[in-house]
Amino acid sequence: MAEKMKVALVGIGKIAVDQHVPSIATSGDWELAATVSRSGTVNGVPAFTDIETMLIDRPEIGVVSLCLPPVPRFEYAAACLRAGRHVMLEKPPGATLAEVYALDALARDAGKTLFATWHSRMAKGVQVAKSALAGKKVERGHIDWKENVRQWHPDQDWVFDPGGMGVLDPGINALSILTEVLPAPVHLRSAVLRTPANRQTPICAEMMFSGGITASFDWLKKGTQTWEQRFTTTDGTSVHLLDGGNRCIVDGTEQPVTELGEYPALYAQMSHLIRTGKSDVDLSPMVHVSDIMTLARRKEAPAFEW
Ligand code: NAP
Repeated sequence: MAEKMKVALVGIGKIAVDQHVPSIATSGDWELAATVSRSGTVNGVPAFTDIETMLIDRPEIGVVSLCLPPVPRFEYAAACLRAGRHVMLEKPPGATLAEVYALDALARDAGKTLFATWHSRMAKGVQVAKSALAGKKVERGHIDWKENVRQWHPDQDWVFDPGGMGVLDPGINALSILTEVLPAPVHLRSAVLRTPANRQTPICAEMMFSGGITASFDWLKKGTQTWEQRFTTTDGTSVHLLDGGNRCIVDGTEQPVTELGEYPALYAQMSHLIRTGKSDVDLSPMVHVSDIMTLARRKEAPAFEW
């Protein structure tokens, strides 16, 4: 059996603990060899509080997976690439587009893999929806992405700070699916952002794209959480993705979907990219977010407290 690849996980917080640690633990390809976090640790795994120290002390760790929020991530990613490590970025891949282009160039210069991950693209029904829409013309589509920020980002003030993206942080997951399944690209035509009076980033967003696509993101949804996308094509095909893309109904019939979950699929893809000497840096979901920030009308929403 091939030796497992050693990976260091950086930013031991909610998503590292909920998804990355279990996905690495159950993978035949990967070994969690170190963590880097100012306070977070994982039981039984050597812990560092400083990235430079880890990169010097553990030369045998060839891959670094960055799970910290987008604003501080660039310096970590650049340090890892300069130190000759392959790098995996949580979504959104950075605070700005330009910094991710810079990382892409650094990775190319270093001959290392850079993987800007989009976990929602790995949801079990996404490829089924993509196949159902392939070769067709989408006439209209609608996204409802409505979740409770207090449940998914408890006390994470960074989501409301500049660069945190607010409701566009989960919304970019919807856009990562949209840009994957649509047979032809669309662009933003208009948007409305509602930002709490005491915060910097939006808590609700309404968008209208070309091609008859509309989207509604809401971060104050209580009870059942809604992550759905529906498309109708000119030949009458209807495609309904629900549960964040993990279920797909085509013309009223539930479709069989893949078995592998989102994060195990991301780590499987990372090992494939490294083995084949490739990178995967698709910024199309983030281009839409950037356009929304550029074009949107702003409205004030009631102040938000946790
Ligand atoms: P988080 O728990 O707030 O942050 C992760 C960890 O990053 C923190 O525990 C902290 O660890 C470290 N960190 C935070 N700010 C830092 C800073 N300024 N400098 C250095 N380290 C810092 O966030 P999260 O929910 O895991 O989200 C992290 C990323 O995963 C985001 O890009 C998010 O979009 C994505 N994501 C989140 C979810 C979710 O449901 N929450 C789902 C999918 C993807 P230390 O204090 O120990 O350094």
